Amino acid sequence: MPDLKLLALILAAIAIGWWLGRLENRRHARRQQRASPLSRDYYVGLNYLLNEQPDRAIETFVQALEVNSDTIETHIALGNLFRSRGEADRAVKIHQNLLARPSLSALQSDQVQFELARDFLNLGLLDRAERILLGLLRSGHDPTRLKPAKLLLVDLYEREREWAKALEVAQPQLIREDADVRRSAAHWLCELAQQDMHAVSPALARKRLRQALSIDDRCVRANWLIAELEREAGNYKAEIRTLQRLARQDHDFTPIVLEPLRDAYLKLEDEKGLARCLRQWVNEAPHISTVIMLARLTEQHEGTSAAADVISDQLAATPSLRGIDYLMDLYVAEAGPEQQHFSLLKQHTGKLLESRPRFRCHRCGFEGIQLHWQCPQCRSWGMIKPITGLEGE
Ligand SMILES: [Zn+2]
Repeated sequence: MPDLKLLALILAAIAIGWWLGRLENRRHARRQQRASPLSRDYYVGLNYLLNEQPDRAIETFVQALEVNSDTIETHIALGNLFRSRGEADRAVKIHQNLLARPSLSALQSDQVQFELARDFLNLGLLDRAERILLGLLRSGHDPTRLKPAKLLLVDLYEREREWAKALEVAQPQLIREDADVRRSAAHWLCELAQQDMHAVSPALARKRLRQALSIDDRCVRANWLIAELEREAGNYKAEIRTLQRLARQDHDFTPIVLEPLRDAYLKLEDEKGLARCLRQWVNEAPHISTVIMLARLTEQHEGTSAAADVISDQLAATPSLRGIDYLMDLYVAEAGPEQQHFSLLKQHTGKLLESRPRFRCHRCGFEGIQLHWQCPQCRSWGMIKPITGLEGE
């Protein structure tokens, strides 16, 4: 057993000892004539602890500590301490033991049940946690515990990918009051829409996506999926309008919008429209990916040197590894005898770019090469964005 664990248990034992001491003083008169069973239990527990038998030690301490209004918080805290140390099974034992006491008031019982649900959630016993939380929402002895119970239930349904149930619990109070839940709810609707898009009905998917935007008008993913629906229906003009709306919602997402935007314009054989849109975006938010796409268009119609001018102007204002890489592409094509040197340099920038993450979570800093709508590390929705600037795009 690691030393830290032992130390924490000893600290818990000392805390319990202090409580026992308090109880002891109160009942001193009553127990003068006989040896105190509480005190004996305490030393027996300590003995188990020192002999590295923590399970028996906990059992003894918990039995020794009488449950009354003075000690209930200590019991709950002891359980929570074990859960936070990754020992949720012990927390369950303590909280269940507490719940079996008939002396608990309705409010105290709610409090213990709430902690027990957190223990089960921690252990992955989702159905047991769900039953307790639904019971708490029905009985509702303590109005202050309703919101935490709903948040826990929403967390549980998210883990089970039960998006409709999560929405049902969150509507309308949590969505109104909690910005994180509001952002998440828009993504649950997007999840449902994605199921409908590829299975049941595009019309229902559209309805869900509009609802997602009405809950959170900053939900970029809803517009991303609406654009996909328009593309699948062959409505390229509508797709372009939606992608433009998305880029206005959050400029940082411009890099992922560029390819479908270009494809839609090309389907409509409207290169001029594409160039116009890209110039406008470069003026509004000069992402290097937009500048490179504009430079490629310029290269096709006006040649390499005009394209190099577009990139060089931008690099002077905002340095970017990807911009330098593209500029080298242009020089390699134009170079005479120095072509070998440029090719070598280009290999280096290419390798540097390959090893760079493309997306980063703005909440926990997780980085990856794929866009996740829900962060795999901190589980926040909509916090991962493309990395822009010097090292990004
Ligand atoms: Zn994160």
